[in-house]
Amino acid sequence: MDNKPLDMLIVGQGVAGSVLAWEVLSRGGSVRIIDNNHEHAATKVAAGLLNPITGKRLVKHKYLDSILPVACSFYRSLEAFFGETLLTEHEVLRIFQTEEEKAKFERRLKNPDYAPYLSEAYPPGAWGEGLHDELGSFKIKPAYVLDTKRFLACMKQYFEQKGVLQCETFDHAHLRTAPAGVLYKDQAAKMIIFCEGYQAKDNPYFSYLPFSPAKGDILTLKTDVALPEEVLIRKQWMVSTQEGVKIGSTYNWDVLDEVPSERGKKSLVKAFYSIMDTKDAPEVITHEAGVRPATRDAHPFIGMHPEESRVGIFNGFGARGTLWVPFYARQFIDVLNNEGELHADVTIARV
Ligand SMILES: Cc1cc2nc3c(=O)[nH]c(=O)nc-3n(C[C@H](O)[C@H](O)[C@H](O)COP(=O)(O)OP(=O)(O)OC[C@H]3O[C@@H](n4cnc5c(N)ncnc54)[C@H](O)[C@@H]3O)c2cc1C
Repeated sequence: MDNKPLDMLIVGQGVAGSVLAWEVLSRGGSVRIIDNNHEHAATKVAAGLLNPITGKRLVKHKYLDSILPVACSFYRSLEAFFGETLLTEHEVLRIFQTEEEKAKFERRLKNPDYAPYLSEAYPPGAWGEGLHDELGSFKIKPAYVLDTKRFLACMKQYFEQKGVLQCETFDHAHLRTAPAGVLYKDQAAKMIIFCEGYQAKDNPYFSYLPFSPAKGDILTLKTDVALPEEVLIRKQWMVSTQEGVKIGSTYNWDVLDEVPSERGKKSLVKAFYSIMDTKDAPEVITHEAGVRPATRDAHPFIGMHPEESRVGIFNGFGARGTLWVPFYARQFIDVLNNEGELHADVTIARV
């Protein structure tokens, strides 16, 4: 192996490690990525929704107006590079669950910060008879779905062709650190950045960070029921894709394995019937589960270790990895190049 120090050694090739490596390479830097190709990594399981307004409280992230355009243009540039369709625009059709949610929506619609992303409210039945929309609905736009499996496969192939991806499990016992750089086995690098997703819990440098990992189940269904092309959201979301109708995702903070659970499946099939007004039974084609690298304050963990200046982390993207990572990868690399600062709510210095 070449012993010239790399600009960056990266552990993990989920969306975080992939985009970070791409960003370094596109600025002329050198990287090596170590990844153990975990079958149920969050990025492989994820639905890939880029939804600007989320949650019960209909919240818009305070930097969304910057984050969303960066994500879109990043994935569009990858599509042009790889000649593949990765990002599909789907409006979100959100069905009101309660009168309180409707009242919240009315307030949001009057807020000039939110209004550009929202439609007017639609009355019950506006979309025909197939939906349970007794209280009506509204649309959120623009919103997108990233084909995360294809995205990862394109990135993996690209890194392999460049000879920068190493398939192995990173072993901390082989890492040496010094003020000028790090040495992993016989590979020297100016720094190492960990992007291991929820497996950061076993990282001796960063296990002190308050992660709050959340398991999620997701189903792909075959159904004869005609679905609108929007992403439908009524507590859970559902979207028609080339592979079938995806529906997800459950949240479980207690059982942190990646084994699809019967409980998760039941609750998602129930969610299907709470969205669609049908008696047709959908067939479950696939049932997957993964663990989101979520954090207690719901903001990512980015930055260099307080005592090991050459050891960093780019993680904690929770349920928003596909949306947040392109923007924060750029911001992090800028900061490492002494240009700009990390947002106060993502730096690990806040902990
Ligand atoms: C069910 C579900 C649905 C989701 N839906 C959405 C969604 O709609 N929209 C959205 O934006 N986000 C969604 N997410 C969240 C999204 O998946 C995550 O935010 C994102 O994938 C995190 O990416 P990551 O690169 O940090 O971690 P991961 O994707 O977990 O990648 C970590 C990588 O590190 C490797 N690794 C770990 N430890 C080691 C080691 N010691 N040695 C070598 N390699 C190692 C693993 O093999 C893996 O490849 C969802 C997640 C789940 C589980």
